[in-house]
Amino acid sequence: MLLKDKHAFITGSASGIGREIAEVFAREGAKVVIADLNKEAADKTAAEFKAKGAQALGVAVDVTSEEQVDQAVKAATDAFGPVDILVSNAGIQIVHPVEEFSFSDWKKMLAIHLDGAFLTTRAALKSMYASGRGGSVIYMGSVHSKEASVLKAPYVTAKHGLIGLCKTVAKEGAKHNVRANVICPGFVRTPLVDKQIPEQAKTLGISEDDVIKKVMLKETVDGEFTTTDDVAQVALMFASFPTNALTGQSLVVSHGWFMQ
Ligand code: NAD
Repeated sequence: MLLKDKHAFITGSASGIGREIAEVFAREGAKVVIADLNKEAADKTAAEFKAKGAQALGVAVDVTSEEQVDQAVKAATDAFGPVDILVSNAGIQIVHPVEEFSFSDWKKMLAIHLDGAFLTTRAALKSMYASGRGGSVIYMGSVHSKEASVLKAPYVTAKHGLIGLCKTVAKEGAKHNVRANVICPGFVRTPLVDKQIPEQAKTLGISEDDVIKKVMLKETVDGEFTTTDDVAQVALMFASFPTNALTGQSLVVSHGWFMQ
């Protein structure tokens, strides 16, 4: 098992990509914390994992709240000991052209993606540094950490910003054996993407099928969606990599939509 008894704190893990990462990590022996805004779904997910023999804990957290993040990490460390792996994954999408974006929606997007990453990183680093065991910080970026798309100004801005935070954490964390990396997925069929398909069809005046084929998957090499398991396998590599050689990096997993 690659993550035997490692404590993995994963935000937004009651659904989609985060949930799959938690499941893969639990299968590899990790103690997984399902930290999510949706407490009921977090508890249900943890219960399902426990029924399969995993060590799992559901905790309620709004990643934009300093107090809630600190409390959630405390509850997690009380239960499972120091944090070894942070996956800062919670996220939402709101799509509008820039000139129509409300300031409140702009701030909400930056708060979830950037404040959430900062607050969870700060809390996890304190635990990792104090334990002396080192650790791995993984940010859920996107192809939109490298590339822009219309209608997604705050998302693209925030996802680019995560790369800056990651590189700083990689430099500061090195002396504590803490690594930091970003995963940059292409489109993955989760509730976050399913919600966008009719919204984009309406805004762009095209069919939902065309949103999938001509917008989302147009630039891929094979017209395929990236899967939650594709992303979870990359997360497992970043979480289990044994040395500081792999730090400060961002890896795109997108069926070739974006090539570096
Ligand atoms: P999802 O909607 O399936 O899951 C997101 C989870 O985050 C939900 O359980 C939700 O309750 C939780 N969440 C939302 N706001 C929160 C908050 N303030 N505090 C705590 N939890 C909160 O979405 P997903 O597609 O699995 O997305 C996960 C991450 O992956 C996001 O950061 C997203 O930007 C990123 N991503 C997704 C795709 C994709 O195509 N689905 C592609 C690239 C990157």
